[in-house]
Amino acid sequence: MENRDVKLIEETLSLKRQKNAVILAHNYQLGEVQDIADFVGDSLELSQNAAKSEADVIVFCGVHFMAETASILCPDKVILLPDINAGCPMADMVTTERLRGKKEEFPSAAVVCYVNSSAEVKSESDVCCTSANAVKVIESLNTQEILFVPDQYLGHYVSTKTDKKMVLWPDFCPTHMRIKPEHIIQLRQEYPQAKVVVHPECRPEVIALADKVLSTGGMCRYARRNDVREMVVGTEIGMIHRLRKENPGKKFIPASEQAICPRMKLISLEKVLWSLEEMAPEVKVPEEIRLKAKAAVDKMMKIGRG
Ligand code: SF4
Repeated sequence: MENRDVKLIEETLSLKRQKNAVILAHNYQLGEVQDIADFVGDSLELSQNAAKSEADVIVFCGVHFMAETASILCPDKVILLPDINAGCPMADMVTTERLRGKKEEFPSAAVVCYVNSSAEVKSESDVCCTSANAVKVIESLNTQEILFVPDQYLGHYVSTKTDKKMVLWPDFCPTHMRIKPEHIIQLRQEYPQAKVVVHPECRPEVIALADKVLSTGGMCRYARRNDVREMVVGTEIGMIHRLRKENPGKKFIPASEQAICPRMKLISLEKVLWSLEEMAPEVKVPEEIRLKAKAAVDKMMKIGRG
């Protein structure tokens, strides 16, 4: 480790103690950020951790909608997002105005929003879901028609597992789009023993070539199995750091070296330290939106994680 890193880490950890803060990092964060975090996980695990924590301050190393979800679940804590420009392009593609228009077009549909959406969009939705529990959430609803926002590929994957009529919002994750069928075909030739595991945000042609379609949490659990020695990982490249750290001796191969989320990578060790020094940038969801968004998140929690 470089001297610069040692000094930064010492300063960050000391400030974290002084401020009674906790550092949470998403699976897609830079390795250096994952390594100083108190907890690494998917967006919902992180927010649930934030809610359980006794800390006064949450340094949320992820993207904006995740910090908002933490603010929805724990309004009394200070939620810091070390770089305020770390927004998810897919979440940002849905505006409440466009969503209201679509709801008018499909008045009998239940609106299910992927957790990768803004607090405002959650507040306009009937229920929220994650990539792990989307099928379970949709199957639990009484309505036959579902308006699913914002990820058309996750929506498409779910539509292959349910008889419900799914109206799909046309947006997608630009990072998972970079994983192409030819990458999987080539890696299967290079690593014939490897299990191919992809995230449901991938395009359907990639999903069709996979052995397993799993959320990031599901990938972590799958990688621990004794029969998995080599794994092609079809998601954002930051996931590889955690998988290698938790499973020494096993081989993890990124499905595409290009599957990098530039917004996730905006957060660095320096920015984590600066956010604690300045207690900014803070993310706080206005109370009126928070209460409505929380109803959609709570409904999902009651249904379960999947
Ligand atoms: S990986 Fe995709 S869905 Fe996740 S934050 Fe980046 S752009 Fe958004």
